[in-house]
Amino acid sequence: MNILDNNRLIEEGKMEEIPITDNHIHVDPYNGEGPVPVAEKFQRAGGNIMIIPNKPTWTVGNSCNLRTAMEMVIRYVNEINQNTDIKAFAVVGPHPAELTRIIKKGMELKEAEKIMMEAMGIAGEMVIEGEAIGIGEVGRPHYEVSADELEIHNRLILGAMEIASDADCAIQLHTESAKAEQFQEFAKMADDAGMEKHRVIKHFSGPFVQKDENYGLTPSLIATRKVVVEGLKKGNNFLMETDYLDDSSRPGAVLGPKTVPRRTIELIRKEILTEEDAYKIHVENVEKIYDINLDF
Ligand SMILES: [Zn+2]
Repeated sequence: MNILDNNRLIEEGKMEEIPITDNHIHVDPYNGEGPVPVAEKFQRAGGNIMIIPNKPTWTVGNSCNLRTAMEMVIRYVNEINQNTDIKAFAVVGPHPAELTRIIKKGMELKEAEKIMMEAMGIAGEMVIEGEAIGIGEVGRPHYEVSADELEIHNRLILGAMEIASDADCAIQLHTESAKAEQFQEFAKMADDAGMEKHRVIKHFSGPFVQKDENYGLTPSLIATRKVVVEGLKKGNNFLMETDYLDDSSRPGAVLGPKTVPRRTIELIRKEILTEEDAYKIHVENVEKIYDINLDF
């Protein structure tokens, strides 16, 4: 689609024709509406592409282990692709809180680390087999943990980056609230792991769009008006996300599934976001970081 066509579509109010990506949105048929209803909501608001990480094991049924949680999200993505016009992609990996949980249950640290690392390996295999486009959300907790546990998380991040480098894929990091200092730390880890830094995505990021803030990592901006407007003042090298949980017991915990399309359309209408920048954020950045072809 060329820019002139887009302009006409805006005048006609057919903004849904502009491709829009939510880079981190969950679907959960156990606690929420599930894959197809969420995708339909996203689509009605003007969305086109959903990048969906698996949820932690304890949120998705009793008999779920690290592998089945990842298999589930691959199934959800297939359901969306078969039943809607949304293009959905899976991102798989063991959430850092899984480690805290198994340690609390009494597992030895060494054994817990091994199980987490094995799950990273399974995630890498799923990417190599073409079932997922990245590893995530992996990282370290947003809450305080012991020094011993933190050390394990950091080793797991490095290990996950090495696996991502071998699988030639992107990684989505869940971490404590990150500023330049943390971005720099993760950039160093990426270098150590031999991973391209722009393929390391900081999920749930503030507007750290400049290179002297993100050290070459890609921030996935939480799609509040404030964060996106602030980010756009600095550039267009970022992604947008809601971190929608699809959990009806936690309404309003994060942004709703319609937020990324609505925010994008709102900011284009207000001429804060150009169509070129929207295309860069929602299509070009996504294709480059995940090495996928969206066909838009
Ligand atoms: Zn998430």
